[in-house]
Amino acid sequence: MAGRIEALRARLAAEGLEGFLVTRPENVRYLTGFTGSVGALLVTSTTCRLMVDFRYLEQARAECSGVEIVYVPKRFWSGVAGHLCDSGLKVVGCEGNFLTWQQVQALQGEAEGVELRPVAGMVEGLRLVKGEEEIACLARAVRLAEEGFRAALHLFRPGTSEVEAALGLELAIRRAGAERVPFEIIVASGPRAAWPHARPSDRLLEPGDLVIVDFGAVYRGYCADLTRTLVVGRPRPEDEELYALVRRAQQAGLEALRPGVEAREVDRVVREIIAAAGHGDDFGHSTGHGLGLAVHEEPRLAETDETVLAAGMVVTVEPGVYVPGRGGVRIEDPVVVTAGGCRVLSGLPGERLISIGEGQV
Ligand code: ZN
Ligand code: ZN
Repeated sequence: MAGRIEALRARLAAEGLEGFLVTRPENVRYLTGFTGSVGALLVTSTTCRLMVDFRYLEQARAECSGVEIVYVPKRFWSGVAGHLCDSGLKVVGCEGNFLTWQQVQALQGEAEGVELRPVAGMVEGLRLVKGEEEIACLARAVRLAEEGFRAALHLFRPGTSEVEAALGLELAIRRAGAERVPFEIIVASGPRAAWPHARPSDRLLEPGDLVIVDFGAVYRGYCADLTRTLVVGRPRPEDEELYALVRRAQQAGLEALRPGVEAREVDRVVREIIAAAGHGDDFGHSTGHGLGLAVHEEPRLAETDETVLAAGMVVTVEPGVYVPGRGGVRIEDPVVVTAGGCRVLSGLPGERLISIGEGQV
């Protein structure tokens, strides 16, 4: 953790800041090990102070070493503002994309003489490339998600509702040892599989349905994110074809993923294949996103992301095709960029639609 604080200090100097106020929980955790939901970490060239309220005082003392813990008894953001004033700093960076309007009002209103300057990506930039221990945690999270998926697969049979299946899957993932699931599991069946981020509904699975199952697991704060598309019973030839297209696009994306390549290039390669098959308009989301302490983080495998990929970055590759009224297919695997290309962290089969129910598993 000390190395991470030092890396942030190097950035402070480069940005002309005397201090930086970290409030995004994942960022605070990354720098200090503190796992509470609210805390404000002030890093300067010589000090590192974590301000917490009563709920987290003992926890912060137990979880953090090399960090000064400051107790803020009442009105947390006013207390943080007071601390900024007392510190004698003139220009302090903050996370403009995370603080709420109210928090900014409290900080600015009460931290007289301190200029708060929003600077994006200060800690996120440090989190881009994962260390070995982080990659091991991510790989473990992926394994827990997969173990749960395998254990719950039998639930995806005709007559089970999406909600029931999602609940069973979540239980199985947590039984496998995950501390939690990182997002509400998506189970989208039949025509609802054309909604990329559908919430599970009361709809009952029917023979012939395509079912998109998007799930994950959290291990020591690190988030796995995977998607498989199932078919209830026997697949229709046109659904097999759609699946084969998405799979081909995903494989091309994996082949394009290597150090030195811009993130948007991977997206372009994947998108081109889907567009060439006439489904360009049916693939409206980006190809993937970074994984780490947050389930969606930098870099984005998206048309606009010029990040140059480097060994140690962990991203998902998740093309999808969604045909309104008919259904959809998405395949998502987490991968780590390696010196020679990339390594897929997941081990679930993805070559073809996973057929379930009606005697086929
Ligand atoms: Zn996902
Ligand atoms: Zn994802």
